[in-house]
Amino acid sequence: MDIRNNLQAIENELKGTSCKLIAVSKTKPISLLMEAYETGCRRFGENKVQEMTEKAEQMPQDIQWHMIGHLQSNKVKYIAPFVHLIHSVDSLKLLQEINKQAFKNNRIIDCLLQIHIAEEETKFGMDKEEVEALLSSEEFKALQNIRIKGLMGMATFTDNQEQVRKEFRSLKQLFDQLKSKYQSAGIDWQEISMGMSGDYKIAIEEGSTLIRVGSSIFGSRQY
Ligand SMILES: *Cc1c(COP(=O)(O)O)cnc(C)c1O
Repeated sequence: MDIRNNLQAIENELKGTSCKLIAVSKTKPISLLMEAYETGCRRFGENKVQEMTEKAEQMPQDIQWHMIGHLQSNKVKYIAPFVHLIHSVDSLKLLQEINKQAFKNNRIIDCLLQIHIAEEETKFGMDKEEVEALLSSEEFKALQNIRIKGLMGMATFTDNQEQVRKEFRSLKQLFDQLKSKYQSAGIDWQEISMGMSGDYKIAIEEGSTLIRVGSSIFGSRQY
C-alpha cells in the first residue's frame, strides 16, 4: 500500500469541491497513521473509543479526531476532552450525555446526527420523524455545550450504484429540508458526512462535504 499515493489520488478528486477527506484509520497501527500524517493528513476517523483515545495520546496535537462509530453513552467521557466531531449521534439521550461531558471539559462539541438511509436493517441511525422530534424538543433546545453541524449516513452495501446514489440524494434532501426548518443557537448546518471507499465518488457528486475513506488509503482491514 502506497499511502502517500492513495491520499494524493483522493485529494486530486476533491480539488474544486468543498468536500474534505477523513482518513479512516481503525485497526491500523500508529506507524501507518504517521505515514498519512507526514503527507499532510490531519483528519482521522476511528470507530472505537479506546482505540481513538490511545492513538490520540501517541500522535501530534494538531490532528482532528472524528468519531464515526456507534457510541455508547458511558464512553463519551473518554473522548470529550479532545474529539473534533462526533458523526454518529442517534439519540437525544446520547446528545445529552455529550452535552454533559462537554460542559465538564468547558467546551462545545460538534456533532452530526446519523440518519438511516440504507436498506439494511442493521445500520444505525434515525429516520426523518425521529430527527425532527429530536430537533423540536425542549430537551434539545436546552443543550448549551453541543452544536449540530449536519448529518451523517451510510448507503447500502451493494454494487447497485443507482441505489447508492438514490440514498445519498435522500440524505442531501433531508439536510436541505432540516436546514430551512430548524435554526437555533445550537445548530450550524454545514456538513453532510457520506461516502466511503466503495462509494465516495458518487457521494461527492451528490453533495457530500466529508468523505470517510479507510481501505482505499490504508488497504483492507483484518479483524
Ligand atoms: C470503516 C468505516 C468507514 C470506512 O470504510 P472503507 O470502506 O474502508 O473506506 C467509513 N465510515 C464508517 C462509519 C466506518 O465504520
